[in-house]
Amino acid sequence: MATSNTDKPVVIIIGAGLTGLLAAQGLKQNGFRAIVFEREEGIDARPREWTMLVHWAMPIFQRLVPKDILEDLKDAFCNPYLHFNAEMETLPCYNGVTGELLFSSPTPGARRVSRRRLRALLAHGVDIRWNMTLKSFSRTETGLKVEFEDGQTIDADYLLGADGTSSKVREIAVGAEKAQPQGSGFLFATGLNQYRDVEKNEAIAAKHPVAALMMGTSSVGGIGVLSVEEPGDKSTWSTFWVKIWRGEPVDLRGQEALEYIKTETAPLRDEFQSAIDWTPSDSYVGINEMKYWIPVPWENYGGRVTLAGDAAHPMLIYRGQGFQHSITDVDNYVNALVQLHAAAGGDVSREDVMGTYDNEVVKRGANAVEQSLCEAEKSLDIDTVKQMLMATRGHGK
Ligand SMILES: Cc1cc2nc3c(=O)[nH]c(=O)nc-3n(C[C@H](O)[C@H](O)[C@H](O)COP(=O)(O)OP(=O)(O)OC[C@H]3O[C@@H](n4cnc5c(N)ncnc54)[C@H](O)[C@@H]3O)c2cc1C
Repeated sequence: MATSNTDKPVVIIIGAGLTGLLAAQGLKQNGFRAIVFEREEGIDARPREWTMLVHWAMPIFQRLVPKDILEDLKDAFCNPYLHFNAEMETLPCYNGVTGELLFSSPTPGARRVSRRRLRALLAHGVDIRWNMTLKSFSRTETGLKVEFEDGQTIDADYLLGADGTSSKVREIAVGAEKAQPQGSGFLFATGLNQYRDVEKNEAIAAKHPVAALMMGTSSVGGIGVLSVEEPGDKSTWSTFWVKIWRGEPVDLRGQEALEYIKTETAPLRDEFQSAIDWTPSDSYVGINEMKYWIPVPWENYGGRVTLAGDAAHPMLIYRGQGFQHSITDVDNYVNALVQLHAAAGGDVSREDVMGTYDNEVVKRGANAVEQSLCEAEKSLDIDTVKQMLMATRGHGK
């Protein structure tokens, strides 16, 4: 399978997560041929879902996607029917000791989205090859040869590793040992619920119509609205809860995960605890350890191979920064390739342009990963919560 074409450079993207799909949209809009290779069998292969706040990088996101995706973006909002104003665009944090409001972080212009629905939207019109797991890549005289586990190979001009926390591209570009993500010791649990009960859903939304946090004891909590079928009938709404604590790594799902959370982790208070207690038996519940990797420079194969998103800087979810940095990476990557190809035949060097991209991602990514670790450390004690960036600086960069 050979597709390289010098008129329209071919960019192979590994990973059909949000970073890979956004990169494909941005590249397509700028005249590149982007092909995404994903190891999963299809868009719904795994029931992984969570909500994310798209905040400081929203204006960058908006210029990377075509008009039709922008017009349908509200389909990915957790609650598209809200009248968004300053109060809706705020993330409140409650005191885990007293239950009172501790601080509110303004997030102007932000929208909370379903990761699953945003991913489906970003997949529109993208050439995605499912069931393709990257094995290796090497340089050729004119570009790259990329090999997959099933033995197929493809020629390309560029390779973008958007293959998440345990990136294979990173493993090849920095070496297996240096590329290993680290366990943070912080466990993250989520529950996705359909209570089919107006009062329960109202109780969650009363803490904040979008989402709310609770911090300051040995467990951090979050609750919010995941999706709204009928805006006027709250029994049709779905909600989510999250819980974070420090502990021994476990990887559990379903009732076993719920039982573990109820018996092995310190309780939260008020609606943050009720949301967990009310979890119906058919809900998705999962626990994972959060992992991180502090970026170090990688081999870029003459400016042809690089990383973006969680592959470049997997971090803890504090202050919702991961996808904001993915969006920034994608924008910088697209601009770098546009700059290179606008100057084709001129004296702009691929090594220099892509080296500048790499250096910026490593520096910005390392800072963001380290900040996420500091935020986690401070979130479990009421005296240090007040020193968190989330409290002092809000959700900005
Ligand atoms: C609970 C939670 C809440 C979050 N909240 C926020 C938030 O509020 N704001 C924010 O900005 N960020 C948030 N984040 C972070 C954000 O979700 C991630 O940074 C972002 O989704 C990363 O996307 P990605 O595409 O880089 O990685 P991934 O989603 O991990 O995608 C990588 C893809 O690569 C594929 N892949 C892996 N290896 C291979 C291979 N060898 N060959 C082929 N394919 C491969 C995988 O199957 C996967 O589909 C949150 C994260 C979580 C978990």
